[in-house]
Amino acid sequence: MQIQLNRRHFIAGSAGLIAMHPFSANAATNQAHLRLMETTDLHVHVFPYDYYADRPVDTVGLSRTASIIEDVRAESTNSLLLDNGDFLQGNPMGDYIAYERGMAEGDMHPVITAMNTLGFDASTLGNHEFNYGISFLMKSVAGAAFPIVSANVVKEMGATPTADTTLVPPYAILEREIIDGDGTAHPIKIGLIGFVPPQIMNWDRKHLEGNVQARDIIESARAYVPQMKEEGADIIVALAHSGIGAADHEDGMENAAIPLAAVDGIDAIMTGHSHLVFPSSNYDEWPGVDVAAGTIGGKPGVMGGFWGSHMGLVDLLLERDGGGWRILSHTAEARPISRREEDRSITPLVEDYQPVLDSVQDEHDATLAYVRTAVGKTDAALHSYFALVADDPSVQIVSNAQMWYIKDQMVGTEYEGLPILSAAAPFKAGGRGGPEYFTDVPVGDVAIKNVADLYLYPNTVRAVKVTGAQIKNWLERSAGMFNQIEAGSTDAVLLNPNFPSYNFDVIDGVTYQIDLSQPAMFDREGAVVNPDTNRIIRLQYNGAPIDPDQEFILATNNYRASGGGSFPGADGSTIIFEGPDTNRDVIVRYIVEQGTVSPRADGNWSFAPMEGTTVIFETGPAGAAYAHSVPGVTIEEAGQSDTGFAQFRITL
Ligand code: MN
Ligand code: MG
Repeated sequence: MQIQLNRRHFIAGSAGLIAMHPFSANAATNQAHLRLMETTDLHVHVFPYDYYADRPVDTVGLSRTASIIEDVRAESTNSLLLDNGDFLQGNPMGDYIAYERGMAEGDMHPVITAMNTLGFDASTLGNHEFNYGISFLMKSVAGAAFPIVSANVVKEMGATPTADTTLVPPYAILEREIIDGDGTAHPIKIGLIGFVPPQIMNWDRKHLEGNVQARDIIESARAYVPQMKEEGADIIVALAHSGIGAADHEDGMENAAIPLAAVDGIDAIMTGHSHLVFPSSNYDEWPGVDVAAGTIGGKPGVMGGFWGSHMGLVDLLLERDGGGWRILSHTAEARPISRREEDRSITPLVEDYQPVLDSVQDEHDATLAYVRTAVGKTDAALHSYFALVADDPSVQIVSNAQMWYIKDQMVGTEYEGLPILSAAAPFKAGGRGGPEYFTDVPVGDVAIKNVADLYLYPNTVRAVKVTGAQIKNWLERSAGMFNQIEAGSTDAVLLNPNFPSYNFDVIDGVTYQIDLSQPAMFDREGAVVNPDTNRIIRLQYNGAPIDPDQEFILATNNYRASGGGSFPGADGSTIIFEGPDTNRDVIVRYIVEQGTVSPRADGNWSFAPMEGTTVIFETGPAGAAYAHSVPGVTIEEAGQSDTGFAQFRITL
């Protein structure tokens, strides 16, 4: 119902429909409407385009959100357009500017160009603004025609936050005119203050250490908000690049929106960082927020999705109160740019706002060329035809990149020095995807497009702390990929068709064999059915049997670490690092920084030999070209299946 109302709004936008909006009631004399519009976590998504897949999409793009923004502006007397950070990084256009074109002094960053075109009133810094270093950031934001504020990123610490020298101004007080219900203009001072998770000091340590420090969000707010009041701010809006987390303040908390909103003097809050939507059913039972009222910590608030998926809208009805203004009432909503239908197809709800597209058309075209050309080289073919039967380069490169990244992230933490392992699974490995559904990048150039192929999902990196015993059971869970094979049997079917390949985690950094004669320890759902089985044998770390009590850091993704696939040691409680970076971004960075990658499989796992036993499995027919060079396994062709797959025989 809500969506339909919004949609009619966009398409008709007529005066008659305005009357349907709860905030269309005319403001009286000395009352005024103020509409606060929010974008957040744009991540350089200006065009409605998925550069990894190299195709247009209807679910992202500031050019689409811009139509909603223009629509609201057309029906409003007073509005502000605010951005909540994470605009500079997160898609190949961002990587193109950072890695290929560069940012010289005076260059315009395309996302800033697009934001200038749309006439933003202010923005704040998100954690991803720091990914390419401070110099890149400062050159990028220099082009902004609007203030960019952040109160808790500090160049020089003072005795108290207000004595700090911050990287960018902590807040801005916009002196504007506001039109009341009579059409009379009055002066108003609108204070905007920005915040970022202090975890940037860990996530971008190599760029930030020695250059800036981060303060607790609430500590900074409590110090600056009274100062803004003293300077005459009539209302204060927090631009919090922070999610909706716990209701109670804890020092250094990442998702601080609720206690921040509750800080005295803050009138409304824009949130983000979590890439979720508020108000929405996501937060129905959440302590400290009220979805129906659109409040966070008792104050009106929104979270406008991510990549331009939504525009957050806080409507305030203000009343003149002596010399200043107070909030009489408020509503909040998040307006989507598209709708997912029951059959999962996407219906766009708005069209592009052409001036935004036009403003960065050149950079869009350059990004298309960038994703289609090489960013690095591989000295081994990146294919997944044999990923389920042997150690494999398409899985190996993911683990190599994850280990490279996590090793860096552990420096200076209490976990530095613990051995680092990595878990990765083949995503494109035939199955229901069909006989062409494999990764296949030949030796030579690797393009950005190929990385999407290697890592299908927009997961983010996680590390868990697990024991040797948990590593063993993690691998037992993976080994459910295979049917139990009777010793001496001929051409038994190897793969369990009900076991998805994305749950077949290979762990790098240890060596092991899989004994197919044993039953699986876990059933399909991850419940233990054979507690005493040992499919995983000769599990070794550093050439010696693994110590069940030894602690390891295991690199993986958010899906697995928080319980996806029900892996032992992965229920969310063992997470010791929550990366802000997608696994895909990490792979791109790894390839760009290495120049040439060597993802040749190291053969760290194999099937245990079984005298006189053969098994059959299916893969893509194009895999035949690689069959002779797969490490640790003897493979021969065994004909075609009637579904278009090629069959191969393994002699165990
Ligand atoms: Mn973000
Ligand atoms: Mg390996």
